[in-house]
Amino acid sequence: MALQDEFRFINQIKPKKVSRSGLIAGIGDDAALFRPSVGMEQIICMDTMVEGVHFTSATMSPYQIGYKALAVNISDIAAMGGIPTYYLVSIAIPKEWNETDLLSIYEGMAMLADKYHMDLIGGDTVSIANTLVITVTVMGEVEKGKHLLRSQALPGDIVFVSGTIGDSAAGLNVLLHKGTESSHTEVEKALIRKHQYPTPRVGVGRLLSTLKRVSLNDISDGLASETNEIARASDVSLILDEDKIPLSGEIQKQYKNQALEFALYGGEDFELVGTVAASEWDNLQKVAKSYGYLISKIGTVKEGSSSVLLNRNGELQKLEMKGYNHFKHN
Ligand code: ADP
Ligand code: MG
Repeated sequence: MALQDEFRFINQIKPKKVSRSGLIAGIGDDAALFRPSVGMEQIICMDTMVEGVHFTSATMSPYQIGYKALAVNISDIAAMGGIPTYYLVSIAIPKEWNETDLLSIYEGMAMLADKYHMDLIGGDTVSIANTLVITVTVMGEVEKGKHLLRSQALPGDIVFVSGTIGDSAAGLNVLLHKGTESSHTEVEKALIRKHQYPTPRVGVGRLLSTLKRVSLNDISDGLASETNEIARASDVSLILDEDKIPLSGEIQKQYKNQALEFALYGGEDFELVGTVAASEWDNLQKVAKSYGYLISKIGTVKEGSSSVLLNRNGELQKLEMKGYNHFKHN
């Protein structure tokens, strides 16, 4: 991108309003400047999406790419129990991409940022040969000592998951077989939506941050992989009940035989999976329900060394830390 084009581009993506009172200087100076809120710990994370690896124009529009690039990062903040605050975007642009599509990426991000009162406070713009690369950094905050780590699971805990699992992978599967243009059934549309517009579970994370002890992780790589991460970080074993894994009506209708595989190994649901003390479970479920959040008990924590077992009709089977992706390298 020529220098004058870059200048014009940055001017167009520069937010017209400021949401956070702590922001002192956003886009336009050498670096962004903000005042951290009193009594809060600061959280920061980053995720990169590469064209042809994490998305293709066959399955995602520019707007959806932007939405998702921000959503996956907000999900990481949610998994720490935090509130997202600011974001920065580094974008490497191939010649083939036009300005309209680039601005659409930013509109997709802005839509979600608006929902969470986040400010875009900086980034970087570079050229690249062939494929678009977008890296988003999100900042967030959580009350001192209230952050949620993966390492807090103890024997006797309940394993829970938010929402329903596997829909995003199922939606991707529909897109890869039928494309974006063909006419989809209502069931297919619902699954596709879960793939293109995953909802980060900030509210659920915030609710969990009020509890004494919770281990938590978000589901980017499938339930098998994420539960193994908790088991490793906490040095315990997780036993999951196959028949308790929450599957949507849509995935059961569309992929009766594959639904469980999508849930375990598909990924990109961006739901939260974690553990709480058994004594807290009933109350947590009640409160979650009152907020309209779905959370389901899917298993228990046992002593043991960092493994996950799946109970299939009474038979325990080791759940490997694998995921599969159609065009994503893990
Ligand atoms: P510098 O040369 O000082 O690094 P730049 O010209 O790269 O400054 O950027 C000018 C301003 O625009 C900075 O505030 C920077 O954070 C912001 N910026 C640049 N590229 C992007 C982008 N792709 N998205 C968001 N903000 C950007
Ligand atoms: Mg720069």
